[in-house]
Amino acid sequence: MEYEIELEKLDCTQELGEKPVIVAGPCSAESEEQVMETAIKLKGIGINLYRAGVWKPRTRPGSFEGMGSKALPWLRKVKREVGMKVAIEVAHPSHIFEALKYDIDIFWIGARTTVNPFLVQNLADAMRGLDNPVFVKNPVNPDLNLWIGALERLNRAGIKKLAALHRGFSYFGPNRYRNVPQWEIPIELRRRFPKLPILTDPSHICGRRDLLQEVSQEAMDLNFTGLFIESHINPDVALSDKEQQLTPDDLKIMLDKLVIRKAEVEDEKLLNTLKHLRKQIDLLDDELMDVLEKRMRISEKIGHYKKEHNITIFQNVRWNEIVGKRLVQGHEKNMSEEFVDKVFRAIHQESIKKQNKIMNE
Ligand code: PEP
Ligand code: MN
Repeated sequence: MEYEIELEKLDCTQELGEKPVIVAGPCSAESEEQVMETAIKLKGIGINLYRAGVWKPRTRPGSFEGMGSKALPWLRKVKREVGMKVAIEVAHPSHIFEALKYDIDIFWIGARTTVNPFLVQNLADAMRGLDNPVFVKNPVNPDLNLWIGALERLNRAGIKKLAALHRGFSYFGPNRYRNVPQWEIPIELRRRFPKLPILTDPSHICGRRDLLQEVSQEAMDLNFTGLFIESHINPDVALSDKEQQLTPDDLKIMLDKLVIRKAEVEDEKLLNTLKHLRKQIDLLDDELMDVLEKRMRISEKIGHYKKEHNITIFQNVRWNEIVGKRLVQGHEKNMSEEFVDKVFRAIHQESIKKQNKIMNE
């Protein structure tokens, strides 16, 4: 697939500063005092980029929907008096026009907006000719092309300073996270656009404070550009997302604990050790492929046999037996249920596909 994003022009690193880039601030701008006090504290711990929601997209009506334009002068005050760059979410062209009157530096497009190409196009049209950096959150559903599509629409409108915000994906049913990270999606985005900055938003992934450290560390270990994180002067009384916000002091503690590892290895000895270990992985992957091939051959044999004797392909009892046994084994071998289930489901699906083909030949 061909993409339109001009890679060499994407760089907004000058705007963002050194890695890891930290953008922090409250979920919502609630009052001038809350906005200013949070900003002063964050500036005090070395943060230069401030986020705050002014118009809030809420899942259900009736909850706090943001202070709207009234909050914009407070953010301009942060910019002028505290010396931070300020970022807000925009979901409608009127938000952009209002924000520009108050010198807002950075715009971000929220997860519920990225899903809608009409809305994204309207925003891109309204931004035409602007030099402001624009951050694009992933859509709520795990659709990488929709995420890329939004970046492309902005890029087509001449926006060069783009960054992606990874905030996790919706999931129905009990889950550890508020929005499942599905790291493979931002990893694939990074593979396709190596120069596009990717910031992880641990707040909306976790939905709770106790997971923030772990998810932020994961983002650092994946060599993402930085964090986009919620911080409130007094989270207990926050008007939105109180469970996931950290005080600036707690944010500092969390950031100080992060281990920032090297992305590139120069040391000869280290390189050799890595090379050696990677070689072993490659050999094991070869073996895995051979075993899978053998397994598929047997599946095909079974397919022919079932066809001859007029037996259905999918047999529930057999499938439960396969998965049940491997889950127990996975446990013993220290592999997560989620992983074992995914692997065997994929293998089983491929087998069914092959048998289906045989049946209908
Ligand atoms: C936010 O950043 O406050 C927000 C509303 O996020 P999202 O669009 O990721 O839900
Ligand atoms: Mn929020």
